[in-house]
Amino acid sequence: MKSVVVHAGGRVLVEDKPLPHIKSADDVLVKVYCSGLCGSDIPRIFHEGAHFYPITLGHEFSGIVTQTGSGVTDLKAGDLVSCVPLQPCFNCPECNRQLWSQCKNYHFIGSRSHGGNSEYITVPRNNLFRLPEGTTPTEGAFFEPMTVSLHTMVLAGGCKDKDVIIIGAGTIGLLAMQCAAALGAKSVTAIDINPTRLELSRTLGAKYTYNSAEMSADDISRELDERRFDQLILETAGSPQTVELAIKIAGPQAQIGLIGTLHNDLSLNAQTFGLILRKELKILGSWMNYSGQWPGVEWDTATRLFTAGKINLSALIAVQGEPQVYANAVTALDGKPMNGKIMLDFSDNETH
Ligand SMILES: [Zn+2]
Ligand SMILES: [Zn+2]
Repeated sequence: MKSVVVHAGGRVLVEDKPLPHIKSADDVLVKVYCSGLCGSDIPRIFHEGAHFYPITLGHEFSGIVTQTGSGVTDLKAGDLVSCVPLQPCFNCPECNRQLWSQCKNYHFIGSRSHGGNSEYITVPRNNLFRLPEGTTPTEGAFFEPMTVSLHTMVLAGGCKDKDVIIIGAGTIGLLAMQCAAALGAKSVTAIDINPTRLELSRTLGAKYTYNSAEMSADDISRELDERRFDQLILETAGSPQTVELAIKIAGPQAQIGLIGTLHNDLSLNAQTFGLILRKELKILGSWMNYSGQWPGVEWDTATRLFTAGKINLSALIAVQGEPQVYANAVTALDGKPMNGKIMLDFSDNETH
């Protein structure tokens, strides 16, 4: 079978690999249809950030069940599934409290073990989410990134009747906007420094857009004045500047959901820190996409939104193609962030 393999030094090669086999009773053999490149994969590919090399990445993928282990009773050949990549131990105090992402003994498909950038992969039953009839393989590959902001919304107690402000109009931000609009936000605002991304935000549910390269935090706050109560701000850009911006533009008692990972240190001066106290801000750290009953309500919500046709994905995808097309597109990034999702597609000419 074909597999897209990452070697040390940023080499991304299409290679032939032996077909995987079912090894335990709860294993499921999946024929992969569609697999997205995640921002977190960039350091794994280009900056020696993988746990081992060579590695087959891919933790945002969909596929069709082709064979099940003897202990699997609730999935059958032909079912469309989405990968749930976290592998908590299900057995520690954190797991007993259903704090899956806090498990200390976890594994992760596509980082601590080989992932879905192969024609076939075996996955334990717990790491598959069955998709309802009518879901497309492309949608299936977006469950993982989509549930990231849905998790923050769960932590925030939902976004109904809130003015939701999304900082960063990358894949996570553009999905968050559509989710917020579909889940009853009073208004959706997008903030980014890229005019094209802001334009796109307007077509995907953002009523207001502000360019933070052209506007100061004070300018943006003035614009937000009438929407300053009941704010939920989602920081998805992951830079020190945008975290600071979130604190500065927040209204009284606003919730700030921090989603983006920082790669540089954040330092706040005393005055900016004081804003957290004065405005009584509620800072919500958000990690991965799991809650309550495994894998979590986020995954059911994603199902509902996709089934209802509320999420436009085509505008988010820059490249979708077979292994060599995908490998070329990834190589061309040369360590830089994606501008639009890069998708590996094994579904040949099947409709999706
Ligand atoms: Zn990811
Ligand atoms: Zn655990």
